[in-house]
Amino acid sequence: MSAKIIDGKAVAARVRAQVAQDVAAFSAETGRTPGLATVLVGEDPASAVYVAGKQKACAEVGIQGFDHRLAADASRETVLALIDELNADASVSGILCQLPLPAHLDGVEVTNRIDSGKDVDGLTIASAGRLALGMPGLVPCTPVGVMLLLAEAGVQPEGKEAVVIGRSNLFGKPMGQLLLAANATVTTCHSRTHDLGAVSRRADILIAAVGVPHLVKGDWVKPGATVIDVGMNRLERGLTGDVDFAAAAEVAAAITPVPGGVGPMTIACLLRNTLTAARMSA
Ligand code: NAP
Repeated sequence: MSAKIIDGKAVAARVRAQVAQDVAAFSAETGRTPGLATVLVGEDPASAVYVAGKQKACAEVGIQGFDHRLAADASRETVLALIDELNADASVSGILCQLPLPAHLDGVEVTNRIDSGKDVDGLTIASAGRLALGMPGLVPCTPVGVMLLLAEAGVQPEGKEAVVIGRSNLFGKPMGQLLLAANATVTTCHSRTHDLGAVSRRADILIAAVGVPHLVKGDWVKPGATVIDVGMNRLERGLTGDVDFAAAAEVAAAITPVPGGVGPMTIACLLRNTLTAARMSA
């Protein structure tokens, strides 16, 4: 293996320590504590684990957590009324509605009810629009985490060929926007892309966010490229990414592992976004 391993766990720990320091400074300066409200509808076990992780992370950096749980059969009106209440609550800087919602609720409608100034997941139409227009706003956590990893690895996107595999609203689209804003030449691929291997081989920065284990082969990687694996696939043998790590690491200059790469950055960036939201409202 020749590639440098980009240690997301270590970078995330540094981001969290910085947020803790900045939260303390913000509170000393304003007399206010940033607050994050999580909304969980139903009892999906995976979602409950994610929400608990986010609440614990808040407590560790001095952000006040508000943990709202609604029954799986909560009505649309009940959920929207809770979001309205949190929008109006000055002690709540950021609001996160854990997705997916039960089938009778519309995740897009509920997410868009969140005040864009408190939209720490960056998923409202207003936040996506601001990002597309290059205006300041809250940006989805995982793509922000990838930009921080690239910076930590000393990779300057300017002028580089960046290929993003995946075009979801949650990751692929905002990732492309952030790379474009950083002056990369961006190609976004998806399930209809012809000859994904050939397109991937052009990339100086190759980012995979698909959800197909080991989709990206070693010979899809340009020698010297930086490879970022966003995929989180739970297999019997454990968590694995979208990149054939062993093969890609022979060719790439730097690569993220799974686990321990992009994953830890997401919660760290959620904390960062919550502080940004608190600063915006102050
Ligand atoms: P998603 O909404 O399911 O989007 C997947 C994307 O991959 C779609 O754009 C789809 O294309 C494309 N795709 C599917 N099969 C493909 C193929 N064979 N070749 C090329 N493209 C293909 O998923 P997501 O939410 O973006 O997440 C993607 C992966 O990242 C998942 O494993 C998820 O768990 C992981 N993830 C991790 C984190 C983290 O914190 N580490 C955060 C977010 C996501 P179409 O649009 O044409 O259908």
